Parts: sequence; C-alpha cells; structure tokens
Amino acid sequence: MKKNETIEMMKYIRTNYEFFEITEEKINVWYESLKEYKFNDVLNNLKKVIGSGQWKSAPPLDVITHGLKEQSSYLDWQKGVVKCPRCGKAFNIENESYECKALDKHRSRCNSIDYVIRETKKHFGKELTRAELWNMDEEEFNYRYDKLVEYIKKNTKDETLINFLDYEKNPPIQEIAKAEIERVFGNAQSI
Ligand SMILES: [Zn+2]
Repeated sequence: MKKNETIEMMKYIRTNYEFFEITEEKINVWYESLKEYKFNDVLNNLKKVIGSGQWKSAPPLDVITHGLKEQSSYLDWQKGVVKCPRCGKAFNIENESYECKALDKHRSRCNSIDYVIRETKKHFGKELTRAELWNMDEEEFNYRYDKLVEYIKKNTKDETLINFLDYEKNPPIQEIAKAEIERVFGNAQSI
C-alpha cells in the first residue's frame, strides 16, 4: 500500500480507538511494515479484528496483518506460481482457487517454524533448525508449538502478548466478526 493509504488506515483505527496516536514517526514505522501488503487486504483484516471485540486498545501490527500475503508473494501470479515469502518455496496454483490451500497451509507452518526457532533460542538458548522442524509430522509439531506457547504465556506479564497468543490460537469466527462489525458500524462497505 501507499503511504497515504497507511495514514488512512491509521485514521480508521483512531475512529475506533480514541487513544491511538498518529505521529510522523509512527506513520513511517507503520508504512515500512505495511507497504508490502495490499490496502484492501489489510483493511478487511482490520475490520475483522476490530469487529471481534477482542481489542480494548488498538491492535498491534502483527494482528492487523495476520495471515495476509505480502505483495511479493503475488509476483509470479500471472504464471500461476506463488512463492512463500519466508522461504521462497514455489507453489503452482494454476489449478487452485484464489485462496491457495497448499500455500496457506505451508505458510502457516513456515511462520510457526520461524516463531519456534526464535522463541526457543530466546527462552532456552537452544538452536533449532528449520529442517528438523519441517521433518516433524504435523501432530508432533503442533504439540510442541502448543507447549511452547503455553510456556511463554505462563512466563510473561505482557497482556498484549497473551492476548495475541490467544488470538492466534482462536481467531474470531468470521460470521461473528461480521455481525459485530455491522452492529457497530452499520454497513461496513460505506466506510
Ligand atoms: Zn515457506
């Protein structure tokens, strides 16, 4: 998205969270984080997040961009190939729907693997490799991931982090979010 779209996004947040401050510095930080995403993707996500009612103060950027594809992952779209922005693995999506299921599944695991590597090093000083985490079957990986998240939640007092980890585990059901948005804003399309 463009810089003026980032500002528009931040103004939209402020209409929902009156204590959300917009400064020149913050605009630059947000723009750096958001420029790789499509404006409409982020706006739709933001509406869902706000509609979920889970955030008493403005949601962090991680939450706002949760699950979205960066523009770079659309690069070879016309050739029917989309790449994972984290590891570069290519997926042929010619015969798949727009919501590429194989890629989505891969990306979710790829993101979780990065997270597990980072947090394991931080909390236990242990270096894991991507390869060994990819080699685990899904059940084992999920089990270990959940254990790590539980550990982090027990050992932090950071409410925003706890909120975020809960949100990751139980994202709001779309229908509930949509109903909530309509209740609060009326027809969301007109915003
Ligand atoms: Zn990947």
